[in-house]
Amino acid sequence: MVRIEAEIPHDICVRCAGRIFALVDSGLTNTGRGEMLQFAIRSLTGNRDFSFVPERSCRVCRGTFLQMEKYLSMFLDATSGYEFSTFLVGSTFPEETVSEEQAIQALFPGLGESIKREFNRELGKLISSKTGKQHDRKEPDIIANYDLRYDTLSLTVRGFYVKGRYRKLSREIPQTRWIHRVGDDRSVEYFIGKPLCDMLGGKEYHLHAAGREDVDVRMLGSGRDFVIEVVNPRIRHLDLEEFRERVNASGYVEVDALSLAGPDDVVKVKSLQHEKTYEAVVRGEGSIDCSRLREALSSISGKLIYQRTPLRVSGRRADKIRPKRIVAASLLWCEGDRAAIRVRAEAGTYIKEMVSGDGGRTKPSLSSLYGSPLVVSELDVVEIHREGG
Ligand SMILES: [Zn+2]
Repeated sequence: MVRIEAEIPHDICVRCAGRIFALVDSGLTNTGRGEMLQFAIRSLTGNRDFSFVPERSCRVCRGTFLQMEKYLSMFLDATSGYEFSTFLVGSTFPEETVSEEQAIQALFPGLGESIKREFNRELGKLISSKTGKQHDRKEPDIIANYDLRYDTLSLTVRGFYVKGRYRKLSREIPQTRWIHRVGDDRSVEYFIGKPLCDMLGGKEYHLHAAGREDVDVRMLGSGRDFVIEVVNPRIRHLDLEEFRERVNASGYVEVDALSLAGPDDVVKVKSLQHEKTYEAVVRGEGSIDCSRLREALSSISGKLIYQRTPLRVSGRRADKIRPKRIVAASLLWCEGDRAAIRVRAEAGTYIKEMVSGDGGRTKPSLSSLYGSPLVVSELDVVEIHREGG
């Protein structure tokens, strides 16, 4: 006890003194623990006048805990207009506070907790009691970041995620908006994200999808898997059916199989790899020999083709040769210089290049097997085979 009186600084408050021994007994507050310590020192050393300093003069906390009502009202102001049910308090203290506290607690190692931890917990309790919202460490809707160096508060609002499948009915819109271009570019991302962002009072939105189709390719059948993320939403409840109706009213994009999702689903959706069935209208130089084309299709069926990255996407993907399996290929109709084909292929197959040969970058190609140039003039994804891998 004599040692404690000698070593413990006297120019700190009871709360900061109690915090040095926070882990010794969890049944008390730090202030209660500090008062016991003060009493013990008075009793056992005979120094009846011994007392710690008031909180406002404490060199560690500098009266921070006297201002909890102020921090509470900062929270209430900042979160007004946000719908949330869970929150978490975080804080950054001045470097001097942290190092002074560490120096003091180092005298009694392993027994204390940090001021930051006490602040976060106590403010969390106060906010919870005033608002009825839950203090939640795992997946809070809102994180309140207090910076005690400048007495400021910033909020991190958890994004809102919806997953589903989309069909793209137009040959004129890209999947995502142009990078670095703000505004309402018409795209799959826009037609799905804009109505959701409006419904949730969000700030921004991002589309995450399982692969992509070209601007001029329609995505039909049961649609492509996607997750749409709304950033900084003010509203956290959603009528999925109303959202679906708003998207589908666009006439460009339709969505289905909607459900609420989370950040993990973004990673999952991006890793999906499924075989797809395509239908393409191809054009030849002059009249197409239908039986020769049928033979070419049957000889590429079940075969591996080797595709070097097409020049048109070489900025986005590494230049290398990818083997891709053509699971099945057949002729739908054939007339004059045009024919329609159906092709089922492994995920990531470039169908336009599979038909044209891409100047020798895809081997073999339908053109090389047919013996004369063929090009795709219209292309649709008609099915994604989720069960087939
Ligand atoms: Zn203090």
